[in-house]
Amino acid sequence: MEKKNFLCTGCQKKYPLDRTFPRCDDCFEPLEVEITQGEISKKRNYISNNYTLNQNILDRYASFYPLSRINHKLSLREGFTPLIPTNQLSSILDLDNLYLKNETVNPTWSFKDRGTFVCLQHAKNLGYTRIGTVSSGNMAVSVAAYGARANMQTFILVSSDMPLEKIQPILIYNPVLIKVKGDYGQLYYESLKIGQETGIYFLNSDVPFRVEGSKSISFEICEQLGYDVPEYVVIPTSSGGNSRGIIKGFLEFYQQGLINRLPRIICVQLEGCAPIYQAWKNKDEKISPVQEPKAIDHAIANPYPPSGNELLRKLRMYDGMVTTVSDNEALESQVLLAKEGIFAQPAAAVSIAAIKKLRANGIIDKKNKCVAIITGSGLKYSGILNKHSFGSETCTLKTMKEKIVSILEK
Ligand SMILES: *Cc1c(COP(=O)(O)O)cnc(C)c1O
Ligand SMILES: [Zn+2]
Repeated sequence: MEKKNFLCTGCQKKYPLDRTFPRCDDCFEPLEVEITQGEISKKRNYISNNYTLNQNILDRYASFYPLSRINHKLSLREGFTPLIPTNQLSSILDLDNLYLKNETVNPTWSFKDRGTFVCLQHAKNLGYTRIGTVSSGNMAVSVAAYGARANMQTFILVSSDMPLEKIQPILIYNPVLIKVKGDYGQLYYESLKIGQETGIYFLNSDVPFRVEGSKSISFEICEQLGYDVPEYVVIPTSSGGNSRGIIKGFLEFYQQGLINRLPRIICVQLEGCAPIYQAWKNKDEKISPVQEPKAIDHAIANPYPPSGNELLRKLRMYDGMVTTVSDNEALESQVLLAKEGIFAQPAAAVSIAAIKKLRANGIIDKKNKCVAIITGSGLKYSGILNKHSFGSETCTLKTMKEKIVSILEK
């Protein structure tokens, strides 16, 4: 493989791939790995044979990853998630070809595992023995799990007001968990700086090799659809890292001639915290921080997304768009997804809420092929279920038959 660099997404300045600070010294925009010219045989479609049985994403797509070495033992078999055609949702949303990319089945139940696995390789190759992250949820769980698997000391920084319900699924993996008082947005940048000084590789939300991990979502979608690119790919968006990766994945396959066009990317935010949408709507080049974010699910509520500016640039370049949905629409979509047997967290269900909205106002056509990225499972966040009002029935053993019969007669 030809030697690759990091490229600044803002000013195109090049940096060597052994750099750990993920942003540009000049303009402070995020870095990315240069476009990679990998190859893959179209014949080896893993749906039609058992190709994935002993593979991980860095086996299958190795040529698209400029990593000097790959330690396959660190894999927990992340990725290769199902792309599920919808049944009931198709008729409810009046959409012929709706697919769910079910990221809830990853080792720690969110897409974050892809980026953690790939990023961990970069950290290992650079000789790091310690890793860390700043997160309020899925990424903390993912990094703690992979850190444990790799037997590396793992630092998880969370904000001091984080409830126990969210901390326990992190603590099970026994990381060093530090609750930090102070501005949460600042924590992202401070951790990178302190990581540099203390020899901890912080695998934060949009660092270049985490973005590289998200590329594999697009690679899989292309393979799973037989290289027939969908019209729309809909992504719940917070820091912007995942969306950047998904866009890059399609671009790399496109540049290799594996697909003949790019899908339109639709990024979705919650109304109560939508900095990327605001800048999009106002035609601003730069995002502004949301002052008082109010959103039902913190997983897509970053008030000042570190990849916001870059995502805006990419969406404008490749004809993407940004939209918002309300907390209630997110909750409603959580229930809609359950109709297909998938238990997603509200943040992950916003892609369905957005499709519903864009279908209703005619932007998405009935015939359009759409892929909704279902980014994470609802299991870790059972507290949110209190917002729903589910019903149930009660009876005694004696009255059970009577009860069932009365329901059958309804
Ligand atoms: C992290 C996360 C997101 C947002 O991804 P970004 O890369 O921060 O834009 C969306 N949904 C879920 C479930 C997540 O865990
Ligand atoms: Zn720059």
